[in-house]
Amino acid sequence: MNSQDHTPESNLSPEYAELKKKYKDLQLRVTRFSVIEQQLINARNRLDREVNIHRQLQGFNRKAFGEMPDDSFGRLVAESLIDIFEVEVGMACFGQDNEFDFELYGIEEFSLTDSDRDALRKELRDYFFQLPSGKVSLSHVEDNDWIRKRIPLRNILLTRVSDPQLGITVGLLAGITDKGILHYDLIDSDREAVFGVFAQQVLSHHTNRLRTQTNRMQYQALSLEQERMSRLAQRFIDLDVDPQYNIKQLLALSRDMLNARNAFYERMDGSVIISKEGVEQELKATGAPVCMDLILSQSKEVVHFKGNAFEKFSDAPDWLKALQNQTTIGTMVRIDRNAIGSLMLGFTGTAVFPESDQNIVRILSAAIGVEERRQLALQALQDSEEKYRMIFEGTPNGIVVAESGKFDIVYANSASCQLFEYAPEEFLEMTIKDMYAPDSWTEILSIIKSMKPGRSIVTDEVSCIRKNGSGFYADISMHRISLGGRELIAGFFTDVTERRNARQILEANNIELKKINSELDNFVYSVSHDLRAPLLAIRGLINLIELDTSVQGDASSYLGMMSSSVNRMDDTIKEILEYSRNARLEVKQSPIEFREMILQCFDDVKHYFPEDIDLQLDVQQNESFFSDPNRVNTVLKNIIGNAVKYKKHSGEASYLKIRVRSDADWAHLTFSDNGEGIEASHIHKIFEMFYRASNSTVGTGLGLYICKEIVANLGGTIQVQSERGVGTVFTVTLKNLY
Ligand code: ADP
Repeated sequence: MNSQDHTPESNLSPEYAELKKKYKDLQLRVTRFSVIEQQLINARNRLDREVNIHRQLQGFNRKAFGEMPDDSFGRLVAESLIDIFEVEVGMACFGQDNEFDFELYGIEEFSLTDSDRDALRKELRDYFFQLPSGKVSLSHVEDNDWIRKRIPLRNILLTRVSDPQLGITVGLLAGITDKGILHYDLIDSDREAVFGVFAQQVLSHHTNRLRTQTNRMQYQALSLEQERMSRLAQRFIDLDVDPQYNIKQLLALSRDMLNARNAFYERMDGSVIISKEGVEQELKATGAPVCMDLILSQSKEVVHFKGNAFEKFSDAPDWLKALQNQTTIGTMVRIDRNAIGSLMLGFTGTAVFPESDQNIVRILSAAIGVEERRQLALQALQDSEEKYRMIFEGTPNGIVVAESGKFDIVYANSASCQLFEYAPEEFLEMTIKDMYAPDSWTEILSIIKSMKPGRSIVTDEVSCIRKNGSGFYADISMHRISLGGRELIAGFFTDVTERRNARQILEANNIELKKINSELDNFVYSVSHDLRAPLLAIRGLINLIELDTSVQGDASSYLGMMSSSVNRMDDTIKEILEYSRNARLEVKQSPIEFREMILQCFDDVKHYFPEDIDLQLDVQQNESFFSDPNRVNTVLKNIIGNAVKYKKHSGEASYLKIRVRSDADWAHLTFSDNGEGIEASHIHKIFEMFYRASNSTVGTGLGLYICKEIVANLGGTIQVQSERGVGTVFTVTLKNLY
């Protein structure tokens, strides 16, 4: 109790005391209520703010989902920081990968210069980099802190959140400046908690945005590539048939598609095709290629060079010098696996070559390779066409090729144009039917129909018709051929009209000649036959006179001379008759016994020429031998007779060796004598008619001629070998006519 209290407790009425006590209790309760009320108000305020913050967070999320450019998103985050966390400054930094190359938003009001801004970005980057990811830091900024050099911050809330999978980092800063410290609430721990949540939301928005952007970019790149490829394909379709032209087109195309300044295709022989400024130009070969080695020296298929790559070619051709200061991309051009040249493209500045560009280079170089291969194939085709053209056009035979179905003519060489007197283009309007006389066509048609594929048939002297209707004859060799899937007939025509005419004349002459011959034979036969009868009568009369003993002296010797003359004449007539018989009579086929026949002949001639001669016979006849006995007999008699007639008269013992070997097909006979022999200068003529090589005895010169004719008639040969003074060998071969 203090001294100011004049009323002692004990002096108060109990009612008053009671009242006072109640009042004091009331007062205490009021005080307690007001504290609770305040606490309630505070709690309500906090709830309101949290609701507000969440509402604002929702508002941010709604806006952040919308489509907007990067800096708008950055600005939205920075502004939301200011609104939600009731601060003056908001900064949002976005970094990607480990580069931490942050972008910074929301500090315009401090009017930073560009360089200050860059410096701040760098400092913030370092600063955020030091922060552990996900931690929120609330701090008071000291006067000497780095950030105050740029912005007069006093109180800051900082955090860094990152997505390690995507390598994305978001850094957020909310702050109050020196000036604002009076007007803004100091940042409290409630806001600190929400700050972390907000940062996570910003990160997820940011990663979503990046994903969408990447997808969109990939899609765009894809559709761009697609568009480029379809353009490429379209240009391929537009290519010509001429490979040389196409290579130029492909060069222009590669330049066009890759936005290159120029394109070069260097061949193995050093020749170059250049495409620049829409002009294609071709340079002749000047030596070995220069780019191929350079490309081959790199292990990559598509190689890049800076301008200085070509410096080592100090004496480089002009076209290469043009590449000196350019970035270039190059690859080999190949046929199969063999390099045949190189494709180079020059670019301005430091160009980059994404995989898609490299693909285009690959495709184009492959396309150039294809064109080169086509060029080679075309050349080979042209060469072989030229070769065949030369053969077809150079031959004097007419060649006509037609379809095997309708017989439409598809080719006619110049010889056939001359032969048929049609122009080449007229031929192409015709069918082969127009080339033949109607009768021949029927024959030719049946031949063609019977002809199998790949087979040939030769037809002689077919009657053909020229354009003017005149005819000629041709030997035709026809072939069925398959060419490029077409069934064709090729006919090779040789004009044989002259040969045919000559043959016909010859045939007519032959018939005439045969007629004359047979008339002559008949004449000879009848004359000699008729001559022989009076001759034999004369000989009979001479014989009668000789029997008359009264005829003596000279008269007797005259008779002897007459008799031998008559005999000689008779011999001649007999030989002529033999010749005539051989010419006239049919060849008979009868068995021949050589031994018997030879002995008979020898006997006969001994009778005529009673000379002493030793016959040595050696016959081996195992098979039956058939021929014309009369004719064989005449041959044997002549040869044996000659051996006797032309024996030597030197006293040397004369012989005639006859050797016979016969089989199922042939008989070989040799007649060797040691007679007077024949002069070499005469020997080739002794088979001629009336040719005599010796005067040592009388003769007609007909014997061997008849032998030769008979042997030929019997299907055999006769030959002679002889040496004057030594002897003669006749060899006769006869066919077995069995
Ligand atoms: P020819 O005997 O009537 O004179 P040939 O035609 O029989 O006529 O013979 C022609 C010629 O061949 C004979 O004149 C003769 O000179 C020669 N000649 C033929 N056979 C012999 C032979 N065995 N030895 C020598 N010369 C021969």
